[in-house]
Amino acid sequence: MNKPTDTKDAPDSVRPHFNFDNSYARTFEGFFAREQAAPASAPKLLQLNHALAEELGLDPSALDSEAGLAIFSGNAIPDGAEPLAQAYAGHQFGGFASQLGDGRALLLGEVIDTQQRRRDIQLKGSGRTPFSRGGDGKAALGPVLREYLIGEGMHALGIPTTRALAAVTTGEDVYREIALPGAVLTRVAASHIRVGTFQFFAGHGGVDKVRALADYAMARHYPDTASADNPYLAFFTAVADAQASLVARWMTVGFIHGVMNTDNMTISGETIDYGPCAFMDTYAPDTVFSSIDRQGRYAYANQSVILSWNLTRFAETLVPLVDPDQDRAIELLTDAIHKIQPLYENYWLAGMRSKLGLTTEDPNDLDLVNDLHWVMKDGHADFTLVFRRLSQAVRGENDAVQQLFDQSGAFDVWARRWRKRLEQEGGPAETRAQAMDRVNPIYIPRNHKVEEALSAAVDHADMKPFSKLLKVLSHPFDEVAGNEAYAEPKPDPSYKTFCGT
Ligand code: AMP
Ligand code: MG
Repeated sequence: MNKPTDTKDAPDSVRPHFNFDNSYARTFEGFFAREQAAPASAPKLLQLNHALAEELGLDPSALDSEAGLAIFSGNAIPDGAEPLAQAYAGHQFGGFASQLGDGRALLLGEVIDTQQRRRDIQLKGSGRTPFSRGGDGKAALGPVLREYLIGEGMHALGIPTTRALAAVTTGEDVYREIALPGAVLTRVAASHIRVGTFQFFAGHGGVDKVRALADYAMARHYPDTASADNPYLAFFTAVADAQASLVARWMTVGFIHGVMNTDNMTISGETIDYGPCAFMDTYAPDTVFSSIDRQGRYAYANQSVILSWNLTRFAETLVPLVDPDQDRAIELLTDAIHKIQPLYENYWLAGMRSKLGLTTEDPNDLDLVNDLHWVMKDGHADFTLVFRRLSQAVRGENDAVQQLFDQSGAFDVWARRWRKRLEQEGGPAETRAQAMDRVNPIYIPRNHKVEEALSAAVDHADMKPFSKLLKVLSHPFDEVAGNEAYAEPKPDPSYKTFCGT
């Protein structure tokens, strides 16, 4: 492997400056491998996220350069970076793998952004590491662009997520079933600490290491928990809260993660690892898009069950920290685990209430929301459009939503109950309709549009459909004349996504 050059050759005026402060590298020696990226022979910068660069305190014009390209392709190490592959473990589809780790990613380091938040900068697809096992450590262009698009789409929807800073092609092929253009994604995260990181530390370092990781994660993500009566229990509760809120947010936009393994669940509460994910079109709770999820473990409606399952695996690693008496620790954590589903349901119901234009709470709201789901299921209605068009019904124009259902009868019956509930609340219709349009997106990453963008890029080196889709997804709530095709579903019952390697 050639040693990457550093960026010192670049003229000062364009040399990108990152304000690195690498706390993970300082703290967890032995729980990562220092590694360098594989060189890329003919890199090309496809996409740079200017807004995110600015948020990180970076100069976009300095990054949009040969020197930036060298960094994002792994050919150069920016000043202050300490590239490393993090070790983690994880339950994958329910089975435990005691050693996973960054097999195709390198953490360059951490920067403090303009809001004083510590953010990881990671290259994904940058070559083999000691954790690669049989893999090539590389990424193909399609999955890199999918992660870019969906992450930015989620961000614009207001859903916590890791984000893409840049996408480059390497000029080399990667081999899946066929040869595909190789690419590297630069990913930004609140941190890359996962439930699986705790599992690895528990398995390989024992209680002292888990405590060190917990102390680190608490200080980084949940500083208030350190002063709680039982800090580690408070930490668990804070993570559970963030994840319950996150999964509830996914559900309100029809997002299916596809591979909710414990190594793909963050401690920060951000969505991570957009592999075989997709947004549901026609509402069907058992929807699975991932080609590898044959049992439907990570189906749409199962995501809240998996939320608790994964957090229970997390709780297991914290038992020795929560109380010296193991039985007592288990009792405390079990109580906290039992609170996850009610917490999740609260977040979900609150999200659904605002989608229906409600600002107050009524004991019958849960039934009202659940019944709409039944009506959507029986009527094979498009999930996103139903909610979006409810605001038109509030404005007095009922047809648009009605026609989304196979037969409108059941919907009409439901809508009468809904209108009664709205009347009970009162208030100006237009104010309500506008509030609904701010929570019910018109544009989500529709599968046919995502595929169109990826295949233009991969098969024809044409980034125009990607750029246009990215632009549309950056303003998911603002309807724009001419963009009708981006709002329309093109349901394909056989649609499958594949793990993003
Ligand atoms: P994922 O399912 O994408 O979350 O990845 C699960 C594990 O497989 C992680 O440890 C990855 O680093 C590893 N992995 C996935 N793809 C590759 C690859 N092409 N080369 C090496 N490791 C990989
Ligand atoms: Mg992963």
